[in-house]
Amino acid sequence: MRLIKKLLRVGVTLFLLLLLAIILILRWPMQDPSLSPGTFAPRPAMDKLPKLRLKVFETGFSEAPEAYAIRGGSFFAARRMTHGSVLIEHPRGRVVLDSGLGTGFAAENAKAPWIQGRFAQWFFTPTLPLAKNPEFPPLDPKQDFFLLSHLHWDHVGGTLDFPTIPVKVLEAERAFALDTARSEAHGVYPHHISALGERLRGLSLLDKPYENFPQSLDLFGDRSIVLVSLDGHTPGSLGVFVNLPGGDRFLFVGDALWFVDVEGRPEARSRVAEWTSDLDKARARLVRQRLAELIAHSNEVTLVPIHDSKALEKVRKAMEKSL
Ligand SMILES: [Zn+2]
Repeated sequence: MRLIKKLLRVGVTLFLLLLLAIILILRWPMQDPSLSPGTFAPRPAMDKLPKLRLKVFETGFSEAPEAYAIRGGSFFAARRMTHGSVLIEHPRGRVVLDSGLGTGFAAENAKAPWIQGRFAQWFFTPTLPLAKNPEFPPLDPKQDFFLLSHLHWDHVGGTLDFPTIPVKVLEAERAFALDTARSEAHGVYPHHISALGERLRGLSLLDKPYENFPQSLDLFGDRSIVLVSLDGHTPGSLGVFVNLPGGDRFLFVGDALWFVDVEGRPEARSRVAEWTSDLDKARARLVRQRLAELIAHSNEVTLVPIHDSKALEKVRKAMEKSL
């Protein structure tokens, strides 16, 4: 009996110490490294853009303590993280940005490393996968494709419900995912990557500066959808500029940010969230600072993290306005 009491005391003490350590880590002041000013490319031309239709979908959600999700957040509030996907209807095909959680959510987590799979099952709630959503159109493998911000499991699942549709990512992301010794420990499911097989295609950027990014790729050559690298969260994290004829411009940033603040500026992740989610933390901070620099330079662009439902709401509103 005395031994049990002693063990209990040690257990409670260790738990309290751990809690204290987490609070201290989360509250310890953080300073971003100073950023040398970026060079901006000449303002991109915005005339004669094709008409695009954007549609936002939610495939699930998760909840995180605000103190974890954002730097300086409250310990007593939670942040809802949506698992979004955005359909872009372009005259030359449908582009689906990220795919969220798919119908195989439970089975895929059962195949994942134990801790990772249990974490997903406990904290993530699938709602309506793209394949089951009556609003989501059928896709044509000849012209439509998924364009993923990166290959973390919670962005890939939905693509597995569309087994003939190409899945495009930056080549650096494809190479990272195929290096399973490295990527499996960082949120990529090797069984996702092997299931994608040949339809996982890598895109390379060109040395064409765009805004404050040194490289870019104009996806259809008509300036409507322009890709840039936001590497840091993962080695091939992708940013997607979408420029609409009415003047609205969005930059979909995947997980380079989880949230923006009420002014639309990047919210920094907490130190613990950086440790658990960013592969290259220094690089991820630099990318966040570049995004802040972009917003400060031009108030034309709206940053849209794919987990931020308020930011996604701005896309919905812009579409309603254009009807
Ligand atoms: Zn991610």
